[in-house]
Amino acid sequence: MALRLIFLGPPGVGKGTQAKLLAADREIPHISTGDILRAEAAAGSELGRQAKEYMHKGELVPDELVVAMVAQRLARPDCRAGYLLDGFPRTMAQATALEARLAERNEDVDRVLYFSAPDEVLVRRLSGRRTCPECGAGYHVEAMPPETDGVCDKCGAKLVQRKDDMPETIKNRLEVYKAQTQALIDHYKTAGSLIEIDATGAVDEIAEAARRSLET
Ligand code: AMP
Repeated sequence: MALRLIFLGPPGVGKGTQAKLLAADREIPHISTGDILRAEAAAGSELGRQAKEYMHKGELVPDELVVAMVAQRLARPDCRAGYLLDGFPRTMAQATALEARLAERNEDVDRVLYFSAPDEVLVRRLSGRRTCPECGAGYHVEAMPPETDGVCDKCGAKLVQRKDDMPETIKNRLEVYKAQTQALIDHYKTAGSLIEIDATGAVDEIAEAARRSLET
């Protein structure tokens, strides 16, 4: 049976790390709108060009662009077995668009996992985050350092810090999250599909909690 999941939570909570693990475990595609937008920006596509400015400021990319992009991705054959949405929906308009699409197909979201952590933990995680521009591997200077400082363990490329992980942009992203995305928590709570996961602990503890939450 298809498994459709949504990962919700503030920037820096570790959704992406957890999403990769759970999607691999359940053999469903991990669809991160942030990753897709960054790839489009790197490729210099029209969508990437439009999205870039918003992303650098820590603002949300307009709903119509993101909704069309997700619709295209969900239409691919690998999504028939289900999918894990990471970073989408982020606004009520996006949630409504997703629900309309699901209803047309007589489908449902099975679970919404809401990862939570206090602001100071989020800021620490975001500012220490490093990524590999070549293979996409993620690191953290304190919690998950590479073997050699600044170098990817997997492919040897030089690690980079995302432009939107700089202090001023971090602040804005947290504000944008509170203003626009937090309302979704109540929305999914009311719908009865929300499970809250405390994301302050270690990666493997959180992963275990996420896996267990699918069994209930
Ligand atoms: P993330 O990697 O999820 O932190 O996303 C990085 C940036 O991509 C966000 O700060 C937004 O600018 C943009 N973005 C990602 N997902 C969405 C979305 N669902 N709606 C609007 N903007 C998004």
